[in-house]
Amino acid sequence: MAFTRRRFLIKSGLAIGVFGSGVKPILAQQPPNEAGPDRIVLLGTRGGPFIGGYSPSPSANLLVYKGVPYVIDTGYGVTFKLVDAGLRLPLLRYIFITHHHSDHNLELGPLLYNAWANGLRTPVDVYAPTGLYSMLSAYWESNRFDIETRIADEGRPDPRKLVAAHELSEGLVLSRDDVRVSALKVIHPPVTESYAFKFQLGDKTVVFSGDTAFFPPLADFAMGADYLVHEALYVPGLDAVLSHVGNADRLKASILSHHTRVEDVGRIAAMANVKTLVLNHFVPAGDKNVAPEVWRDAVRTTFAGNIVVGKDMLQLPL
Ligand SMILES: [Zn+2]
Ligand SMILES: [Zn+2]
Repeated sequence: MAFTRRRFLIKSGLAIGVFGSGVKPILAQQPPNEAGPDRIVLLGTRGGPFIGGYSPSPSANLLVYKGVPYVIDTGYGVTFKLVDAGLRLPLLRYIFITHHHSDHNLELGPLLYNAWANGLRTPVDVYAPTGLYSMLSAYWESNRFDIETRIADEGRPDPRKLVAAHELSEGLVLSRDDVRVSALKVIHPPVTESYAFKFQLGDKTVVFSGDTAFFPPLADFAMGADYLVHEALYVPGLDAVLSHVGNADRLKASILSHHTRVEDVGRIAAMANVKTLVLNHFVPAGDKNVAPEVWRDAVRTTFAGNIVVGKDMLQLPL
């Protein structure tokens, strides 16, 4: 879905006619908000790096606020999902990576490249834990031939200069106008740096848990949020999936130690008194035997508030 200038003007009440005949619509002469209305889009809701088809794909999310897109995680498939969400790639502006598991960062370099190849001419800021600098420099090196050929041959700007990388730590990450983004270090062994992100956008608050074991401090971090987008693990579904693999006990212990059972997700949401809990990063994912109602019923045992069982390309208004 593309957001044309006219559609935006109509949606925002700025279209000619709203002001009555004879009144010049001065606001309509401003640049259009091509990124579309304020919203959350769950681009990829699969937990883990398995690729079983276009949907669900590994972790990626889009937030749009006042025409500015914020991408949270860049799992495989993020470029196509952003295009499907109606975002022109050269509008890319901010990217946040929760941690360096590949189901969250595999397509970071290619997304930046694709935006550039599609006409990016403006800066992009990328925020991620330690390791970002080496990851990006290795990516640019891996495509140096193509990039330098196109710069010389097609007169493009140097993408390595358009992209600003920032290795983040806990606390305030970004503050700009009425936007504040802060990070909380969560528990996701053996990864030592895994973060939840809180986006304060005017009077709206959206929190992404990232990947984490049950972590009560996350409830303080998300207190009163309009949306808590939280990863979710359904243990009975996991048993069914693991029954087909050889090292099931070890794998199960590993998964239990670094993800949050969906009943505990409900406990976090209840402690935080969030307005809406959005389940995301499903383990298992795409399993027909674990229907949305199964997730909803499991989380309902511990959270009485508004629940959304996420799926790829689901849009939620801000
Ligand atoms: Zn993950
Ligand atoms: Zn992870």
